[in-house]
Amino acid sequence: MLDIKSIRKDFPILTQQVNGKPLVYFDNAATAQKPKVVEDAIIKYYETINANIHRGVHTLSQLATDAYEEARAKIQNHINAKHNHEIIFTAGTTFSINLVANGFGSLLKAGDEVVISALEHHSNIVPWQFACERSGATLKVIPMNEHGELIMEEYDKLLNENTKVVAVSHISNALGTINPIREIIKKAHQFGAAVLIDGAQATPHIRPDVVELDCDFYVFSGHKVCGPTGTGILYGKEEWLNKLPPYQGGGEMIKTVTFEKTTYACLPHKFEAGTPNIAGGIVLGHAIDYLNGIGFDNIAAYEHELLEYGTKRLLEIEGLKIIGTAQEKTSVISFNIEGIHPYDIGVIVDKLGVAVRTGHHCTQPIMDFFGIPGTVRASFSFYNTKEEIDILVEAVKKAKMMLS
Ligand SMILES: *Cc1c(COP(=O)(O)O)cnc(C)c1O
Repeated sequence: MLDIKSIRKDFPILTQQVNGKPLVYFDNAATAQKPKVVEDAIIKYYETINANIHRGVHTLSQLATDAYEEARAKIQNHINAKHNHEIIFTAGTTFSINLVANGFGSLLKAGDEVVISALEHHSNIVPWQFACERSGATLKVIPMNEHGELIMEEYDKLLNENTKVVAVSHISNALGTINPIREIIKKAHQFGAAVLIDGAQATPHIRPDVVELDCDFYVFSGHKVCGPTGTGILYGKEEWLNKLPPYQGGGEMIKTVTFEKTTYACLPHKFEAGTPNIAGGIVLGHAIDYLNGIGFDNIAAYEHELLEYGTKRLLEIEGLKIIGTAQEKTSVISFNIEGIHPYDIGVIVDKLGVAVRTGHHCTQPIMDFFGIPGTVRASFSFYNTKEEIDILVEAVKKAKMMLS
């Protein structure tokens, strides 16, 4: 059992008042709050070892390089990657997907097919549209049912010898659906397609094992796992990272440069042009340590409890409909109240101190599927409590009364 009271003490922001009310932070699917150890690590980096990495022979540069590479090894270990050069530091999920999709833009050709799903975030749609436009490949979409679950029989029909890439989310940010990625990966591999898993929404709740999953790419954002903004990870199997062309040119990613020809550095440096977010990468390692200290099994079990409690309590409100009722879900509840715009609910509950997300959640195709302009989304983290859910329910009741 988690000691939530003591965990909450690790997060200074949670003691704040917003609009004169205690903050209830239920926008965790957009970004997670940061524990004090993460904040302290940022300051400590700048106060003790700040220097550019991989370049200087001087002591600080060595210390910064060691800390950065230690963070890489930590993340390798965390997701069980075979090699540490399969871990590429990026600016986030969006950057990671663009890096991979841009590379495939030069590998794909007319007649090839890219498969995504109806549950994708815009950042796992648009980069693939770019890649298809450039190469002449075709984009196909795995449809979903009214619960927000992917229809696997339809996926089977989409796969063929022309399928070169399958890119799907591990967990949907808008609905919380956990996708059957093991099965998706296995089936794609039967046709030789590469599989990218968008783990942005999974990594705060689950510790992925990329070898066991056998995915070719797995990407996530630092800021959603209690780490700093502007950090992210691209895991790629060595053979695929070697096949992909570099994304950005510049310092650090080269072996030799002349005006006639440049040769590229080996992995991971080939994909890490320029001075990276050194502090961010190092501190992301601290954030992962913090989460492992709490334990992902504990996190998942407790968040599931919050999901069940929140679902039950919110459904007590007459006219409230939950969008996304998959069998397998994480602690995300998207909902609407008949006749009321989600934005209006968001504004009123904010006045009562409750932070929820409203709108399309960067998933317009999902909103179109359900024929709605958006939803109110409450997403729970391990530092949230049932008492906070009660406050949300009261706030939504009040909003409903004022708006209907
Ligand atoms: C948040 C999110 C993204 C985008 O992540 P950024 O950190 O904004 O780059 C992509 N996919 C999913 C499923 C997400 O939840």
